[in-house]
Amino acid sequence: MTAKIIEIIDEAKDIRSFRLQAKMDYLPGQWFYIKLDENLKHHFTISSSPTEDFLQFTTKFREESDYKKALWQRKIGDELEINGPFGNFVLDEKDTTPRLFIAGGIGITPFRSMIKYVSDKQLTLPIKLLYSVKSKAEAAFAAELSDLRIVETEKEGRLDKEKIEKYCLDWKERSWWVCGPPAMVEATTSFAPTGKVTSEEFIGY
Ligand SMILES: Cc1cc2nc3c(=O)[nH]c(=O)nc-3n(C[C@H](O)[C@H](O)[C@H](O)COP(=O)(O)OP(=O)(O)OC[C@H]3O[C@@H](n4cnc5c(N)ncnc54)[C@H](O)[C@@H]3O)c2cc1C
Repeated sequence: MTAKIIEIIDEAKDIRSFRLQAKMDYLPGQWFYIKLDENLKHHFTISSSPTEDFLQFTTKFREESDYKKALWQRKIGDELEINGPFGNFVLDEKDTTPRLFIAGGIGITPFRSMIKYVSDKQLTLPIKLLYSVKSKAEAAFAAELSDLRIVETEKEGRLDKEKIEKYCLDWKERSWWVCGPPAMVEATTSFAPTGKVTSEEFIGY
């Protein structure tokens, strides 16, 4: 399927959202493939919510990446080849257990989709979001996310068990949802309450 780029948004330092015109039914938290050419194909979480009338993904530029260099050349009106949606890291709106969302860097993307969905649908679902970034300049979507605690690793160090307990006092009662680079997901899930954690790793970071 092809999708036309209708908007490109600078969200934070080196982070862009690409809004696409495409008909795709998806659940908050799912991902799709974007193929730029035969050798350049990546997974991206859909950072828009199904309540919005565009399909969006959000990613970070890396100088060493041929994929990102090619993507940053794309302009409004260009078409991308997409395939999806896929994935089980999805919001079950019937489950009203309070959530603790923990995002590492660009791992914020599924949570942006889920939180926007909860807000647009006016669901009663308590969500606390802990968002670990190197610095606030790299915190995409921060202005629109509520009940958010940003942890700047260059000032505070990594988001460890102590900080989670400090910033989310009822952490034991919540179901934990963790997304980010594999090392961050592995470290964080190792101290989550047993049986209460769901995670998604962004392989490639
Ligand atoms: C389910 C899922 C959802 C994702 N959602 C997002 C998102 O919303 N936003 C976002 O920016 N990124 C997302 N990613 C990661 C994305 O697909 C890229 O891997 C990432 O953006 C790095 O791409 P790059 O071109 O900068 O790095 P590259 O130059 O492609 O790769 C950097 C290094 O990682 C290795 N690598 C890259 N991809 C993989 C892979 N799939 N498996 C194993 N090794 C790999 C390369 O060999 C290289 O060593 C997601 C990944 C997964 C699996």
